[in-house]
Amino acid sequence: MKVKFWGARGSIPSPGPNYTKFGGNTTCIEVLTSEGRIIIDAGTGARPLGDEILSEGDSSSRNINFLITHTHWDHIQGFPFFQPIFESASDPKKARKISIYGRASTGSDLRQAFANQMNNTYFPVLMRNIAANLKFHDIEPGNSFNIGKVQIKTALLNHPGGVLGYRIEDNGKVIAIATDYEHPEDGQKDENLEYIGRDSDILIYDAQYTCNEYNGSPETGESSKKGFGHSTPSKGVEAAKELNTKMLVLTHHSPSHDDKMLAAMETNIKKRFNSCFAKEGLVIEI
Ligand SMILES: [Zn+2]
Ligand SMILES: [Zn+2]
Repeated sequence: MKVKFWGARGSIPSPGPNYTKFGGNTTCIEVLTSEGRIIIDAGTGARPLGDEILSEGDSSSRNINFLITHTHWDHIQGFPFFQPIFESASDPKKARKISIYGRASTGSDLRQAFANQMNNTYFPVLMRNIAANLKFHDIEPGNSFNIGKVQIKTALLNHPGGVLGYRIEDNGKVIAIATDYEHPEDGQKDENLEYIGRDSDILIYDAQYTCNEYNGSPETGESSKKGFGHSTPSKGVEAAKELNTKMLVLTHHSPSHDDKMLAAMETNIKKRFNSCFAKEGLVIEI
């Protein structure tokens, strides 16, 4: 499999000259499998990915699969700007088939969650005007399904409203995705994270906060971010060691962490584990 990051930012896009190295787009991860392209989340990184797919012309597959972790804005906001959904085919049989698997943050009806952000209050084009053939699949956490020979396992992870963690297995290789994930209290095990992440080749893990931001600091007056649904690079290393993962990729960077800060954090964490920070354009092949 080959993983490419199109968006590694959490919460809200962060454009600007101090954000060019890691990128400002929100979560979108492309995974090339033996069954074609699977896209994790449709944050604003989905816009440039959509343009790339269109530039491939006839050589690109007409079938696209999205796995949506949850429907907070930063994970679906790029969808109305993902141009392949508007590409009309002269032959209806050639219309793009876009399958969207996931779970709405309210627990059900993924289609409605996507339609809501395209309501005319927020967006000029309604979902019914999309040319592609959209198919939504509400996933019950814990259920498994297949995309061709690729097996997908899911688990409900700790995040406000819940989030799906994914385990993608293809030809004996495993990629685990745990973004928008908050680790349990010290000393507690997380069986759901274990289920998707055990013996993974790559664990993609939420690292939005520094330890100081997460815990809060009485000296600086910074309030704690506990309960906000995100984790830290340090907790990522602990999880990766515990799960016997081969490589840890930290993502969902805080919009207030600029390139300089993220580069320093990455240097520190690389000393502790085979790891890196996700950045736009990063490609990892396993
Ligand atoms: Zn998020
Ligand atoms: Zn979220």
